[in-house]
Amino acid sequence: MTDQTTSANYDYLSKLIVAYQSPYSRPDMPWRKTKDPYKIWISEVMLQQTQVVTVLNYYDRFIREFPNVASLAAATEDQVFRLWAGLGYYHRAKNLINAANIIVQEYQGQFPSDFNQLLTLPGIGKYTAAAIMSFAFNEQYPAIDANIKRVIHRLFAIEKLDEKHIWQLTLNLMKGKPSRVINLNLMDLGAMVCRAKNPDCLLCSLKTHCQAFIIGSQNVIPPPKKRREKQIIQVATGVIVKKGQYLIQKRPMKGLFPGMWEFPGGKIQSGEIPEEACIREINEELGIDVKIKQLLMTHKHAYTKFLVNLHVFICEIQKGKPKPKQAQQLRWADLEQLDDLPFPAANQKIIQQLKKEH
Ligand code: SF4
Repeated sequence: MTDQTTSANYDYLSKLIVAYQSPYSRPDMPWRKTKDPYKIWISEVMLQQTQVVTVLNYYDRFIREFPNVASLAAATEDQVFRLWAGLGYYHRAKNLINAANIIVQEYQGQFPSDFNQLLTLPGIGKYTAAAIMSFAFNEQYPAIDANIKRVIHRLFAIEKLDEKHIWQLTLNLMKGKPSRVINLNLMDLGAMVCRAKNPDCLLCSLKTHCQAFIIGSQNVIPPPKKRREKQIIQVATGVIVKKGQYLIQKRPMKGLFPGMWEFPGGKIQSGEIPEEACIREINEELGIDVKIKQLLMTHKHAYTKFLVNLHVFICEIQKGKPKPKQAQQLRWADLEQLDDLPFPAANQKIIQQLKKEH
């Protein structure tokens, strides 16, 4: 079967997709049991760049705290970021709050059921809008994620396909079929059987109609992407202590971890030792001189695009009054208060270590 596939062939192939049952079990995904567009939206945003097992630890808690669009619109950034901490890509949480406010103000709290209206909301791109249209409203919209992309390439044995072409081929498979089922089954097939490496073709119920399998090209279609080595960044961080309280700063709303709290510090420059970098960074960020009392910990943290080697020091102020030069806000907080604030994952490790040593 090629791009010139007849409608009879499409029909047969889409019947196979509708009937598809994974030979492997997947974790129970609560967002698949609902047609509520709000809950589907939250799950889809959480799933961007994030694995299902990770999202499972966050989704229920988030929905319990913010069960609908009105409760999310009424939440503070700190409340939302605290529940998001550890999921990464924090601009997603900020976009959720902004979009919830727009839905409340401009759509009277009713979740839009129009693809083009969804696309105007912050953080909702073509994939998320299509997923909401399909999973919540069962409209014919292909939700093209990496799994569906790979399966479509292979089913039609086409090495290179642009987005428009993949969209059209998937849409053809949806004709007269429940789009929700086609999207979900293609996603599951890609995640569990039609994997990027070593697809399990012998267990695949689509193999009789899969062109890549028929010509033996399932391992080279689509061509594997070259992986880039992750950059390693050395960072020095200071935990400034005074009377049982710790000095923390709120990051700007732009850039990495927008609006989250952190301990001050930054990149170690070439030729610097971590202690020097810690003192310099704190002076640049807060306008104070600190003395290092001891090393609290070192910690390696992997982000999607880079690795961080964190050197964390307990410090005390020697001279000056801290002022936020780059941060939005500064404050002192005790261990209990640190727990109620949103911190990036690497900073949470510092809090855990402080608790251990307390
Ligand atoms: Fe993927 Fe193989 Fe199934 Fe084709 S036969 S869809 S390549 S798992």
